[in-house]
Amino acid sequence: MIQMNLHQVAAIVGGSLVGKEARIQGVEIDSRADCQGKLFVALKGARVDGHAFCQQAANQGAAAVLVSSAVEVDVPQIICEDSLQALQALASAWVKQTGVKVIGITGSNGKTTVKNMLYSVLSQNNQCMATQGNLNNEIGVPLTLLSISRSDDFAVIEMGAAQLGDIEFLTEMAQPQMAVITNVSQAHVGRFGSQDNVAKGKGEIYQALSAQALAVINQDSPYAVQWKQGLQSPFITFGESVESDYRLFENKEGYAIKTQTGDVFSVKLPVLGHHNYLNACAVTAMAMSLGVKAEEVTQGLMQFTPESGRLNLMKLSDHLQVIDDSYNANPASVNAAIDVLKNQAKPTTLIVGDMAELGHESVQMHANVGNYAISNGVDEIWAVGEFAAAVCQGHEAQCKVFDQVETLVAHLQNKKFEHGTILVKGSRSMKMERVVNAIVGGD
Ligand code: ATP
Ligand code: MG
Repeated sequence: MIQMNLHQVAAIVGGSLVGKEARIQGVEIDSRADCQGKLFVALKGARVDGHAFCQQAANQGAAAVLVSSAVEVDVPQIICEDSLQALQALASAWVKQTGVKVIGITGSNGKTTVKNMLYSVLSQNNQCMATQGNLNNEIGVPLTLLSISRSDDFAVIEMGAAQLGDIEFLTEMAQPQMAVITNVSQAHVGRFGSQDNVAKGKGEIYQALSAQALAVINQDSPYAVQWKQGLQSPFITFGESVESDYRLFENKEGYAIKTQTGDVFSVKLPVLGHHNYLNACAVTAMAMSLGVKAEEVTQGLMQFTPESGRLNLMKLSDHLQVIDDSYNANPASVNAAIDVLKNQAKPTTLIVGDMAELGHESVQMHANVGNYAISNGVDEIWAVGEFAAAVCQGHEAQCKVFDQVETLVAHLQNKKFEHGTILVKGSRSMKMERVVNAIVGGD
């Protein structure tokens, strides 16, 4: 984590130090957390203003505070114009000082998965840190960068985007030496306006790379050509297309990857899903470009720790299994999950909650999900939420519609599943894990 003297911090953020010189070790924005020896950065949120909690942070051991306006506090304070901008500037400066190799990961789906896989591969023989959980926004990224140690070799950083310009900003802050866009889909299209804009927004990660960096490009994406244009850096590609430098394909044993030099090796993962093998292919391209050997890549992939609620297969009995993919949902990830479900033991049931943030295309996209499931042989759909009826449109005989999760959970008390495979999926806001718990816990 960052270690720095206050006068250096003040110089970097363009602030003035009030109080004695001290050395900080780490940064904290939550005054309830352990602030021992750290710099407490007071951020103004929509609901809470961190400036009101500076003394609490000092009581929790903070060595100093960084504020946008002077506060009453019994530790030194650095007063600057904007504490969030200061946090970001400090993060950027700290990354440069550590000399760590930053790897930036963005995309509509699979960022956290790719991050966890790459961390697992790289940390076998390197000192490596990675984004905790999903801290991928304009606050999470700088906090993550500030937790890099000088002794780290690699920092694997997840970057999320809510609108155009976000990724450019985060890329300039993190200065990655390697960057990947896992893929582009309709995720967050509501705020971007169109999928083309999502591609443009994610593409900022490549445009902002320096000539010494490496762009890792999804060759299967319709945006691959666009992303390659205007690059300052060299690039390599991954995907299922024959022209990919690192190519994923299926054989009798499962999945295999053919490398740039023509070597072929098989890959096994602790998670289900074709898309996860594509994620693994991206990771292989990245790791091997960093000099990691094939055996180390396959070992790291086999051992990676999946996040909960992402296509986790749970066997409840010899005849019944649940696939918990309740973490989140958008059109591409629901279809990817249906692709998994259709190959599992029948009868198959899709329990699907609303997909959020789809703007004016919401009804159509929910209808598409229902059509995709039924045309792929899914036996039954239980849909819940505002768009449940849209999912079920035209397939009423095979569908049940619920207005809210509570009603669905109550229904589960009467209808216990005994056979087959149930897939549970929905946007984060739907908290579909409640359904998983009801099925698994039996209540
Ligand atoms: P978030 O934007 O919420 O941070 P993320 O991009 O980090 O999401 P993950 O958490 O890795 O993505 O995966 C979320 C879901 O996306 C998974 O449960 C899975 O269903 C789906 N998913 C993961 N990888 C892919 C992929 N390559 N293509 C399509 N869907 C994918
Ligand atoms: Mg994520």
